[in-house]
Amino acid sequence: MIHPDYDSPGSLKTFLEEKGMAMQKKFGQNFLINRQARVKLIDALDINSSSFVWEVGPGLGAMTEEILQRDAHVTVFEIDRGFAACVSNFFSDYEKQGKFALVPGDVLKTWKEEAEKKIPDRFFGNLPYNIAATIIADMIEAEVRFEKAVVTVQKEVAQRMCAKPGDKDYSSFSVLCAWAYDVKPLIDLGGGNFWPRPNVDSRAVIMTKKEVFPRCKSPEHFQKILRSLFSSRRKTVKNNLTAFYNDGNRAETILDAAGIDPQIRAEKLSLEQLLHLSDVSYSNIIEDHE
Ligand code: SAM
Repeated sequence: MIHPDYDSPGSLKTFLEEKGMAMQKKFGQNFLINRQARVKLIDALDINSSSFVWEVGPGLGAMTEEILQRDAHVTVFEIDRGFAACVSNFFSDYEKQGKFALVPGDVLKTWKEEAEKKIPDRFFGNLPYNIAATIIADMIEAEVRFEKAVVTVQKEVAQRMCAKPGDKDYSSFSVLCAWAYDVKPLIDLGGGNFWPRPNVDSRAVIMTKKEVFPRCKSPEHFQKILRSLFSSRRKTVKNNLTAFYNDGNRAETILDAAGIDPQIRAEKLSLEQLLHLSDVSYSNIIEDHE
């Protein structure tokens, strides 16, 4: 089977029609039809023959081809059965050489099993909008990090990923990303770069693994407490934590034990303070259950 012209909506459309397939909005299917942009994204991934890449959502393989042309190894995660069958066919020669592998199904459910086999050094995805933030957060929470990741996400998600304390987009997700990676914007991709054209603008970001990755007792609890601390940005940490525990005294005790001013807002806290607060809070909850 020969793949369609990845830059031609006409060719993509005809290919799908001939196979009795259609683009599915619920899976955030928008193909990047700009070769220059594809090259730029994979250039930024900085790969060679010794690189191992995970790609989420290959679609019909436009990005996968770019990765394979650089002689890297790639494992793709694809939920759409039709697309999965197509890429497996297009790249069967690479599969025989051990350079290409397909994991069919929902990546949110399949990636952990793959991670038990091998954690690659690179992560790539023109990510489906509905799962982009979740997959990034899930992997950080599981402490699975890549040397480098390049992801294309909705512009607003990218803004949150790159935001610094004091920025209007600074959120719990910004802290989570900054815990694990240095995140920088790479390129903006307006709707016209995709087929079908999405209603939103996209931005690619490059994530470079942080050398210093301070651990905490429970990354899961850290994520939960971050969400609550940033749930009402104008509220103090004490007020947000009171809502989290449903108990003002407890919020005060924990903040006191963590050495944090209860009147401060979450965005003023450093990463180390937030991790420490999470640990104090987690120990308090565990003690409570003992
Ligand atoms: N890589 C192609 C490109 O850049 O042109 C397609 C990207 S498209 C934005 C997103 C892809 O992710 C689609 O192929 C879609 O079927 C796939 N996808 C959506 N949800 C998924 C999920 N939960 N698990 C795995 N793949 C998913």
